[in-house]
Amino acid sequence: METVACNLCGSTRHTALYQMPDRRGYHAGVFTVVECNQCGLGFLNPRPPFADMGKYYPKEYYEEEFAQNRAYHLRRYAREASYLRQIERKPGPKSLLDVGCANGDFPRFMRARGWHVEGVEVSASSQPITDFKVYPQQLPDIPVNQPTYDALTAWAVLEHVHDPMAYFRKASEVTKVGGLFVFQAPNFNSLASRRLFLEDIPRHLYFFSEKTVRRYLEETGFALEKEHFGSDIFVQPSYNWLHYYVQTKVMRRPFTYAELPVARPEFFKRYNLKPGILSTLKYAVAQPLTTLDRALLPALTWIQILRKTYANSTYVAKRLA
Ligand SMILES: [Zn+2]
Repeated sequence: METVACNLCGSTRHTALYQMPDRRGYHAGVFTVVECNQCGLGFLNPRPPFADMGKYYPKEYYEEEFAQNRAYHLRRYAREASYLRQIERKPGPKSLLDVGCANGDFPRFMRARGWHVEGVEVSASSQPITDFKVYPQQLPDIPVNQPTYDALTAWAVLEHVHDPMAYFRKASEVTKVGGLFVFQAPNFNSLASRRLFLEDIPRHLYFFSEKTVRRYLEETGFALEKEHFGSDIFVQPSYNWLHYYVQTKVMRRPFTYAELPVARPEFFKRYNLKPGILSTLKYAVAQPLTTLDRALLPALTWIQILRKTYANSTYVAKRLA
């Protein structure tokens, strides 16, 4: 494990926020999420060094990621593309670099809309891509050093990298003046990220808010044009928000990872129940607070989107002259 200073402001003063193990259970260990006292950036500290990350990204991780259905993905890509509309409207050829392009489906989706596309993907576990150029390095290391692209996209990438500042700098270097850097990341101002142990730790190393994103952009030659807090690209319900409130506000005790209520699939397994209405009813009776928590989730989600405290946000930044 390595201890790091704040990636955004360089401060070494931070406050521990919570501790949790690898949520997916790929590898043992307990990790601490801290918040920088100076700028508010969230990060894992100490953290596994870059060379050790392989054990947290086994083959199953990629299989889980790509298991979701095609209709879901097409809807998501269309939504992602909508953030690039102001470039699409301009006449002439357009070029896109998709950072963390995985199996390449989003760049292909954009190519079908008339874009010239390239990608960046470090993972060897994803399918080899042969129909367009893919750089196998980390974004800061790709051999492009000129303003080349009309747009850069990074969907759920920046929270995974060891040096986000290097990513913002490189994004600035390779984006044309007036071009866009569009990225999506978990929102550190959300209950899901700060309180409910819903971050994919230790694969998520950094936790951004509108404030810290603005500062990254200002320091690297971008201006934030638009941010959108919502479930349009990735859905992350604030599971167990009611448990958190009851415990911290009513019982006045900290809410820890060990106290998370048992989830329904785990409950079924524990009591040898087959999924179905009767089993779900048994779960509802055994876990009334969880039932109420889930029932009120849609209303909470609506409030979170309005208050910019939803678990995910998308940022659209313009490269300044
Ligand atoms: Zn800081």
